[in-house]
Amino acid sequence: MDLLYIDKAIPNAGELKEIIPGIFWLRMPLPFDLDHINLYLIDDGDAGYALIDTGISTAKVESLWNDICSRLDKPISKVIVTHLHPDHIGMAGFLVEKFRVPFYMSHAEYFTARALSAGPRGASDWQDDEYLAMCGMSEDYIGKAKARRSSSPGLSQVIRPIPIQFERLQAGDLLQIGNSNWRVHIGRGHSPEHVCLYNEETKILISGDHVLPGISPNIGVYSTEPNANTLKMYLETLPPFLNLPADTLVLPSHKQPFYGLHQRINELMSHHKAHLKNLTEFCESGKTIQSCLKVLFKRDLNEHNMFFAIAEAFSHLNYLYFEGYCSRDKNEHGQYIFTSIKQF
Ligand SMILES: [Zn+2]
Repeated sequence: MDLLYIDKAIPNAGELKEIIPGIFWLRMPLPFDLDHINLYLIDDGDAGYALIDTGISTAKVESLWNDICSRLDKPISKVIVTHLHPDHIGMAGFLVEKFRVPFYMSHAEYFTARALSAGPRGASDWQDDEYLAMCGMSEDYIGKAKARRSSSPGLSQVIRPIPIQFERLQAGDLLQIGNSNWRVHIGRGHSPEHVCLYNEETKILISGDHVLPGISPNIGVYSTEPNANTLKMYLETLPPFLNLPADTLVLPSHKQPFYGLHQRINELMSHHKAHLKNLTEFCESGKTIQSCLKVLFKRDLNEHNMFFAIAEAFSHLNYLYFEGYCSRDKNEHGQYIFTSIKQF
């Protein structure tokens, strides 16, 4: 059965579309293959509108925001960010500064965002090289990545300075917006402590990137923490959302609002389990992470996608290693070799 997308035309960039009374869908452009993010505004009574996520910091998005702010009948009253990725947090600093309003995030997302956007501050990057070697990338690739890193301004280019103060959102909290109440649910794996908001009365879930239709959220292991088991965290924090009603309306950060939460959760679980099964078959003789990419990705990968693809393959293989399905050894080139012990 297909998911049921809501019967509303997708808004143009910068256009506000009312989905149900008091909840507005706003799209902002992204300069990637995935070319958009969905933001949501919720009527916050006399205070204004609460905003969920903010768009990446580019000149285009800034000009769209200036235009929207000049058209809105009320100010932005709260800025809520689901997680630290630049398409979500990018313009938060700009908006919090403009309206001088509270800024809501979970603890782990807020401090990880502050740390990552501040960059390495001159710390050595040999561990980035080592990470790429672990992944089985060629010396040529590692050298080029190093050159790109040293010449790139990093995340600060796409994230405005993050407000120095925040309001903490925790699992189970009830956040009041206007006369509606939103329960905080936490997802992990795509990011450390991803906030989802659920309204029990209207059965609406703002799912961020934790549950997406049509695409599977990136679950990665990156150089910051090469022994992370992010896929385990994702597979553990996805099923609890099955406790929400089957007829929940899901407002995701990418693609379109949809019905079919349970089905989508089950699809995402099966998607990862199929990958794990295929990987244990493929790794009967030892394999590098890079050589496993073809098991997970059928399409050609550009430079931007490759960064996420190797992280995604790493998370699946680490899962198999930590759960006892594969061994993990390092060869003389510093590459991890994963070898199946038993079928997933
Ligand atoms: Zn994300």
